[in-house]
Amino acid sequence: MNWVIDLDGVMWRGHQPILGSAEAIAVLQRDPANTVIFATNSSARTPDDVSAQLAAHGVDSLGQVVTSAQAAATLIKPGETVYPIGQKGLRQALDNAGAQLMEGPEVDAVVVGMAQDFNYEMMTVATKAVIEHGARLIATNTDATYPGAEGIYPGNGALVAAIETATGQRAQVAGKPHAPMAELIRSRYGATGICVGDRPDTDGLFALTLGHAFALVLSGVTQHNDLPVHPNPDHVAADLWSLVTALAGN
Ligand SMILES: [Mg+2]
Repeated sequence: MNWVIDLDGVMWRGHQPILGSAEAIAVLQRDPANTVIFATNSSARTPDDVSAQLAAHGVDSLGQVVTSAQAAATLIKPGETVYPIGQKGLRQALDNAGAQLMEGPEVDAVVVGMAQDFNYEMMTVATKAVIEHGARLIATNTDATYPGAEGIYPGNGALVAAIETATGQRAQVAGKPHAPMAELIRSRYGATGICVGDRPDTDGLFALTLGHAFALVLSGVTQHNDLPVHPNPDHVAADLWSLVTALAGN
């Protein structure tokens, strides 16, 4: 069975590991019937960066990392020109897809991922690309915020909203819970599985998009007194270890 695992709120909270999660992954990986896939809406980091972060938490990802930047790159055909707003993870994913990365607005597509150096000039190029050159507007993800080393930070959704406002166009969104990321996972790993996460509005909806079961863990943003939630989870557990223990033998 495929296990599609969310990272923050499942494997760790900020920099704090969630007790038992690394052991739970090891238990799953010991059964050759399982494929464990780590799915993150983070676009700034490369899959290797994410694997290294997992390794620092005692988890061997076995190279099975899927990022929203990779999902966004599936929307680009080889040879297309792209104005990227983003960091190393996005540039590498677009490069691997055969995109031609450009600095100016005469492009086929603008792809917006998390950019900590986001500024007015980038917004201007993106706006001109979409309005004056008919470029497609693509977002890696639209998460409003993300949890970092010192609490909450504005997420890529805030950057995308700025460009959507300027252009009057809605971006096509690639990451969780949207179809491009689901298509990428299904094409690599197959159609059946279980999606584990701490947010019904991303992980739960993503399970629906994937056609997977949804397992909600209460080790992240959702607490027991937030229940019931939509979509209704197939399984609820305190954390990943409890979930894996409860489902062991299935
Ligand atoms: Mg999460």
